[in-house]
Amino acid sequence: MKAPKSISIGVRRSMQSNKSSRTLPELLLSRLIGKEIVRSDLPGHPDFVFPRKKVVVFMHGCFWHRCPVCDFSLPKSNRPYWAAKFESNKERDRSVKQRLESMGWRVVEVWEHELREDPIGVRNSVLAMRSPVIQKTRT
Ligand SMILES: [Zn+2]
Repeated sequence: MKAPKSISIGVRRSMQSNKSSRTLPELLLSRLIGKEIVRSDLPGHPDFVFPRKKVVVFMHGCFWHRCPVCDFSLPKSNRPYWAAKFESNKERDRSVKQRLESMGWRVVEVWEHELREDPIGVRNSVLAMRSPVIQKTRT
C-alpha cells in the first residue's frame, strides 16, 4: 500500500524533471520539426541541434526572453530586480548567439508567440534552415 506522501513526492519529482528540461512550446516545436530536444554542451544549450548542417534552434519564451513583439510589461513588484534579471537574460542570449556564430553555427531563434500564431510557418523556416538551398543572401 502506498502512502499519499510517497505519491506526492513522486509527482513533485517528475514535475521538477519536466521543468528543468522541457516546456510545452519546446515539445510542440519538437513534434513539428520531428527532432528530439537535446541537452547539448554548446553555448547556451540550444534546444535543437542539427549537427551536419551546423544549425541550432532556440525556443524562446516571450516573457523570459523579452520578446520585442509581445513587449510584456515588468511585474509590478520588485521592478529593479526584474529589470536587471531580464537585462541579463537578453545579454546572455546575445552573447550566446555571437559565440555560436563564431564557432560556425547558424542560430535560429523561435519565439513562443510565433509558434502559437503560425506553427507551420515556424516549422517550414526551421526546416528550410537545415537545407542548403536557403542561402539567399544578396550580394
Ligand atoms: Zn512574443
